[in-house]
Amino acid sequence: MYHKPIGTSREVPVEFEILEIDDLLINQLRSVVRISKTREGLLLQITADADLKTTCVRCLKEIFQPLSVEFEELYQFPSRYREKTDMILPDDGFIDLNSLYREYLILVLPIKRLCQKDCLGLCVVCGANLNETVCEHQAEVRSSADVIRREELP
Ligand SMILES: [Zn+2]
Ligand SMILES: [Zn+2]
Repeated sequence: MYHKPIGTSREVPVEFEILEIDDLLINQLRSVVRISKTREGLLLQITADADLKTTCVRCLKEIFQPLSVEFEELYQFPSRYREKTDMILPDDGFIDLNSLYREYLILVLPIKRLCQKDCLGLCVVCGANLNETVCEHQAEVRSSADVIRREELP
């Protein structure tokens, strides 16, 4: 791309099976990187879809949550940069896409990680997954609630 005329662009598909962000695992990242040469440098326009592998905060089941992100980043040619904060194209022309994806995917991570909107969680006594089963303790909780209600009656 260095020696191509201004205005040239091309699209490059990028895929990662696994991308680690701190202690998080991003799976099946599928992305298209559109690289355009401008007067200032190389403009990267990126769309990406991936699955966040995580656990439900209530029932601890392993889940995959879809992530989707769109961003662009301009890498200036070294001879043209003026501000220190600008991204400069490295001398070897190699752009670290991994850290770009990390930087932007972190922004779209879901705050509530639930297997389903109304996940029932785990029994606090035996740890049974209450989405899948009703344990004896749940029955007890319910019947003692009934007792209280009956006692409250005048
Ligand atoms: Zn759950
Ligand atoms: Zn239980």
